[in-house]
Formats: sequence, C-alpha cells, structure tokens
Amino acid sequence: MKKSIIMLLFSALLLFLIPMYTHAATNQTKIILDGQELILPNDVEVVNVRSNIMIPIRVVAENLKFNVNWDQKTQNVHIQQGSNAISLTVGKDEALVENNTVKLNIAPQMIKNTVFVPIRFVSEEMGLRVSWNNKDKIVTLTSNTLPSPPSNGNGNEAATNLVHEINYANNQLVVQLDHEVTPIITTLKNPERIVVDFPSTDFGNMVQVPSTGSMGRLDTSEFPNVTEIRYSLFKNDPAQVRIVIELNNVSSVNYNQQTNAGKFILDLSMENDPAPTTPVNSGKKIVVIDPGHGGSDPGTTSFTKKHEKHFALALSLKVQALLQQESDIEVIMTRETDIYPTRSERVKLANDLKADVFVSIHGNSVPSAPQVTGTETFYYQRASSKELAKLIHKNLIKAIGLYDRGVKNGNFQVIRETKMPAVLLEVGFLSNKSDEEAMMSETFQNKAAQAIVDGIKEYLKL
Ligand SMILES: [Zn+2]
Repeated sequence: MKKSIIMLLFSALLLFLIPMYTHAATNQTKIILDGQELILPNDVEVVNVRSNIMIPIRVVAENLKFNVNWDQKTQNVHIQQGSNAISLTVGKDEALVENNTVKLNIAPQMIKNTVFVPIRFVSEEMGLRVSWNNKDKIVTLTSNTLPSPPSNGNGNEAATNLVHEINYANNQLVVQLDHEVTPIITTLKNPERIVVDFPSTDFGNMVQVPSTGSMGRLDTSEFPNVTEIRYSLFKNDPAQVRIVIELNNVSSVNYNQQTNAGKFILDLSMENDPAPTTPVNSGKKIVVIDPGHGGSDPGTTSFTKKHEKHFALALSLKVQALLQQESDIEVIMTRETDIYPTRSERVKLANDLKADVFVSIHGNSVPSAPQVTGTETFYYQRASSKELAKLIHKNLIKAIGLYDRGVKNGNFQVIRETKMPAVLLEVGFLSNKSDEEAMMSETFQNKAAQAIVDGIKEYLKL
C-alpha cells in the first residue's frame, strides 16, 4: 500500500537522475503535476543549478495538499502530511524525513524569496514519477500510478535498449542487456542503497516483467547484507529501467562497474556494521568472536613486518566457519573485514547480545626480545572466564604445540567490560621468527581454529 504522498514526492525528487545537456533553464519553465500545470509565482522558474534541476517546493507541496511552514529565522521548511514530516533547511544538504537524515545532492536554495529543492527527493517505493523535458523545460510530476501508454505507442521510440536478465550473487549485480549502456549510479544513505538507472532502456523478455508502476524483486534471502533488490520501469518516454539494491548492516559500500558485450556488472564491496540491528534468535548459544585490531589499528608488527590485524582476522574467520557448522551455536563477529570497531563497540555488541561466550583473538609481540615465544590466554577475574580460558588454552597447546605460557589474569578492556565469560587469546609471538612462520600458515591456523572451537564447545557442554 502507499505510505503517503509526501514520502513519494520527496523520494522521487531525491532519486531522480537525468542527464543534463544545457545551461540554466530560464524562460517559460513549467511544472505539470498529475496532468495539471501549476501556477508559479511571479518570476519563479524551474532552475538548473550545476546540473541539478530545482523546483520551488512550496507550490508543489501545497498543490499536493501538504501543510508547509516556513521559519524565516532558521531558514527551515517544514512539510507535514498526516504523521509524516519532512524538514529541509536552506543551504543544508541534509534533510529530515520521518526523523531519518537524508542526504541531498545539493542543498535547498533561496532564489527570489522562494525555496528551491533539487528534483530528487521521493521514495522510489512509492513509484512517483518525475521527469524533466529539457527541450521544452517542463518538469512532470506524477503522484499516482496511472497506467502509462505502452512504450511502442506513439512513434516516440528512441533506440531502446532492453534488459533481459537481472541476477545477483557473489556481491555482483549482473544485468544482461541487448547492447552496452552506461547506467547512472547513485548511492544513498539511511538505509544504504545503490540506485542504478539505465537510460533509454526498457524490459525485454524477462522471466518476470514488472507491470508499469510496480516493482519486480530478486530473491536475496541468501545474502545477509542485502535487504532487497528491486527493479522497475522508472519512467516512460524515454523508458528508463531502475534497479535499487538496498543493503543491510553495511557501514559503507564501494562499487566497480564493467560492461562486457551487453552484460553490465556491478561489483560491490561492503563493510559490515559492527553492530547487528536485529536480535539473534534464541535457543542457541551466542558466541562472539573478536578479531583483534583492524582498519586503522594494525596491532603489532610481526617479525617479517606483517600486521597483527590480518593474522587475527584470518584465524577468526576460520573459527567463524567452524562455529557456523554447529547447530547449537550462533556465531557473531565483531568484524569480518579490515575495519576498526572500537573496543567499547565490541564490548557493547557482546553485552547487547547477551552473548554466552566472548573470545578475542590476538598475536603477541615483544620486538625487543624476539626470542620470546609461546601461547598465553587471558581472563579477567571472573571464575567463568577463567574456566573458559583454561579449556581453550588446553586445546590450543595440544593442537598447535607452541611453548605453554599459561592462563593468566589480564586487565584488558574487552574481557574486563564484557559481562559474559570472556577470554583474550595471545596465540603466539608474532615477533618471534618461528612462532610467526607457524602462525602465518594455513595448517597452523586451521588447527588453532579447531582447538578454539573445541574449547568453546567443551565450556558450553556441547
Ligand atoms: Zn593484539
């Protein structure tokens, strides 16, 4: 169902992207809203500011029957429809939409005593269509989903490209087209989205062609970082296919694009949010694995000048993979890539999850004494942590065979401030030549990972 027209208008304005060919639009611009030409105040025109088409917001919002309030002092426009509110400020490229911060491509501007906003600001979910006819200087806004004329209608065919297939796997969006086209790609926040617009493109003989004004969706249930991928015919005349990838628990995303014989490939690389936003299902034991350091914090430097953070992550991911095979365990990582969650964030994650076990994984180092070697395991005060430490340590020593430095009380934040049984493993000395050589090997890491898992399972009596 439609949420409200306010979201609709604003998302469409926000998302609207069209190629711009000319300098500022000046004379006799028009805004058509649902087939009706809006009467613009004296001298007010649609303007083109650095390729952003901007429209006077008040006249549009009021014609959509919204309440519009202007605060001269704060230069704020408040638009209200029912319980939905939008707040924009002149000169500020962030708006509030239903209390979420939304980034604008270009800040609202005051021109001739009228506030102008970029024509890119409406929920694509609502399907409000916006188009800009650069030749005739007409903005067309459609707030409903009236059936559009068929695309092979009135002899208005530009050479239209066709989409035949859309797939997503391995962090890649693959779109099969008749011929090469360069899409326009926009990223949006809250939630993190990537909008891919294919100009002069319509749907070909796809398995599922969405009807005009509606959305098709890909099955993304296997991909935890993807909320959904939807595709639609965003507009007609010329046709434009839009694909929106909405991401989940992702703190940032980068992409690479390539085109190959009509195949468009968008390669995503994502960084996960350190904190999951969904509670973990109950019934399973929750094990938080914390790969030490990461991102801007490299940790210590090894004998051959490698970073501890990479060792910690490599081993932790092996532990994760093993724990994922345990039906009674839910494994949560504080990081799965080279990012740096703060220690407080790691603690908070584990505490918020009410985790059953917390294991922080590190490599040790005394560069001034490269002969120092061996495995040591830390706990902080709690008897439960000490018990967990003993069990993991015992398994580690047996499996990896480094010198046994023992189980120790250690005052580290991640084991001190977490509330569950928590340990910090110093698996070996990266500053020691032979420890390091072993620690960097896959065989060693696999053995160590298995030992850590065995210790955790022993502690949890699984
Ligand atoms: Zn460390």
